[in-house]
Amino acid sequence: RAKENGRNTYQFYTAEMNAEAVNRLMLETDLRRAVEQGELVVHFQPVVDAAARAVTGAEALVRWRHPQRGLVAPGEFLPIAEEIGLIQDIGRMVLRTACAEAAAWRAAGFEGLTVSVNIADRQVTTGRLHVVVNEVLAETGLPAEALAVEVGESLLVRDLPIIDEVLGGISAQGVKLVIDDFGTGYSSLQHLRRFPFRTLKLDRSFVRDVLQDAEDKVLVETVIAMARKLGLSVVAEGVETAAQLDWLLGQYCDLFQGFLFGRPLPPEEFRALLGRPLREVEAVIG
Ligand code: C2E
Ligand code: MG
Ligand code: MG
Ligand code: MG
Repeated sequence: RAKENGRNTYQFYTAEMNAEAVNRLMLETDLRRAVEQGELVVHFQPVVDAAARAVTGAEALVRWRHPQRGLVAPGEFLPIAEEIGLIQDIGRMVLRTACAEAAAWRAAGFEGLTVSVNIADRQVTTGRLHVVVNEVLAETGLPAEALAVEVGESLLVRDLPIIDEVLGGISAQGVKLVIDDFGTGYSSLQHLRRFPFRTLKLDRSFVRDVLQDAEDKVLVETVIAMARKLGLSVVAEGVETAAQLDWLLGQYCDLFQGFLFGRPLPPEEFRALLGRPLREVEAVIG
């Protein structure tokens, strides 16, 4: 297209690309400083057991409280963090913060809550994550069974012995292994069997259109049925409406996460939510 329109368009693209490169360089510099100065914060999104009508835990999600840009989403800075080698530091910080927060929930009487932490592939392939997990649990006093780690399908398709060592080591401590965004990658049933997963998170792209799209419906039904037979629990991500919740309950999906129940919240707001009645669930299941 640029070629067709001639030189002007070409120059336009170049200017735009320069602006992007400058922006990117600024972000890089900012990000290094942000990690040192503690600008990265962890928010918590409730995970709900509808049958028990209770919050069973939360997913820890990192955000960047940027002095000028405001709250920056992880999708905008984690890829940069990976490239410039900051992902290990960030990952350890998130893990430590999440475990300390979960230990505080338990100390406040909310026992049995689980905190779920996202793990970048690199933390597993080069990070000795099983050792880090062990250290952080000891440091924060959180029992291993109150922690879950979420890995993506992109990790599982890589055939590296270190992955078995790290995931096996984490699981052996009693920490739950979760497969995140299930259905978006290229993992097979073989991968599901190779690692001791306890929970499968159904990607929100399937949940979004499940009431309109016949194919998504079949996929979701099948994945939930398969997970149940394998003894895995299923978390449906991205549940936004009562109608989605209602349909998923009919499929015997038991755990839910989405804006219907709550957005990711700063730690103090998440704490305030604990112990409140779950009106959204009651509206659907009575
Ligand atoms: P994820 O692990 O699949 O996390 C769920 C994402 O879906 C979160 O986006 C959450 O805010 C969003 N979400 C939850 N419910 C709804 C809903 O009902 N509707 C919509 N539209 N969105 C919903 P977020 O916080 O922007 O995180 C994006 C991704 O960034 C995460 O996807 C995860 O892959 C990654 N991430 C976040 N925090 C960390 C972290 O600490 N470490 C690593 N390695 N990755 C992280
Ligand atoms: Mg996740
Ligand atoms: Mg997910
Ligand atoms: Mg997702």
